[in-house]
Amino acid sequence: MPERASLTVVVPAYNEAAVLEEFHARLAGVLDALDVDGRVLYIDDGSRDATWALIEHLAARDARVTGLKLARNFGKELALTAGLDHVDADAALIIDADLQDPPELIPDFVARWREGFDVVYGQRLQRDGETWLKKATAAGFYRVMQRLSSTQIPADTGDFRLMSRRALDALHGLRERHRFMKGLFAWVGFRQVALAYRRDARAAGTSKFNYWKLWNFAIEGITSFSTAPLRIATYVGLLTAFGAFVFAAWIVAKTLLWGEPVAGYPTIMTAILFLGGAQLMALGVIGEYLGRLYMESKARPLYLIDTLIGARPACAAPQT
Ligand code: UDP
Ligand code: MG
Repeated sequence: MPERASLTVVVPAYNEAAVLEEFHARLAGVLDALDVDGRVLYIDDGSRDATWALIEHLAARDARVTGLKLARNFGKELALTAGLDHVDADAALIIDADLQDPPELIPDFVARWREGFDVVYGQRLQRDGETWLKKATAAGFYRVMQRLSSTQIPADTGDFRLMSRRALDALHGLRERHRFMKGLFAWVGFRQVALAYRRDARAAGTSKFNYWKLWNFAIEGITSFSTAPLRIATYVGLLTAFGAFVFAAWIVAKTLLWGEPVAGYPTIMTAILFLGGAQLMALGVIGEYLGRLYMESKARPLYLIDTLIGARPACAAPQT
């Protein structure tokens, strides 16, 4: 870590005029006491209220503040991506504008970063002001995600986290369009550590996520980090095809042995079952290739290096 390290606090804000002043006052107090070169980057994600005017006002008053206004509402994941792309500091810390993530915890994040961790993620011990339904669906989602995806996404984490420069650079290499940020943060790897905290209730304003949005968010997460649903379709297809072939064979055998009173039934049934089975199998095969194509199209880096010790090989293979 450099002598006087710099830290940019990235704050996505969508219609947050009701809390922004209070948020900034609390954040500024924390940054004042911190011995890093702290800055704040507000991203206005196409707000329709006074959020942008407030950000301009804050920037005029406080030299540490920069603002970024997106052309329309792109959603939190893309607002975060835009914000992180614009960070040139030694580390970035993501925090919600609604004071659910207490800014007073920032010194703890910085302390873990100083210890050498690249990613310090907040892990919610308790969620105040949220219904049991939201908590239960969230728990279920993390369980499904953990089973389906090979990237281990820690449970109960939000976007409240600090990322070192090299983790940010690595994240910058992931340019896929469907961005499930929690998964991408985990995919990067490096030295990660959890920091437990109590998530408060929203200070003012309303949540931007309803159950429909959360459902879509869950589908996004599962399909971005796993092709398991395609694989399941393949197995269901194979199983049905197998059943169809067995049944067709049975009808043929039965007709040969005992005859069939309904003329045409065995031929039609066998043809339908055979064609249906063959089609399902072919679909499964196409699904497998499609899954591979999908993963390739993300063009993620194949690996990321943490450390290299010893001299580099004298005749290193050319980089392709
Ligand atoms: N947010 C955003 N764009 C959106 C939705 C939300 O930038 O389209 C921001 C919002 O302003 C807040 C953070 O993302 O700072 C979390 O949103 P919210 O509090 O509504 O989510 P919840 O805490 O209810 O999951
Ligand atoms: Mg919130």
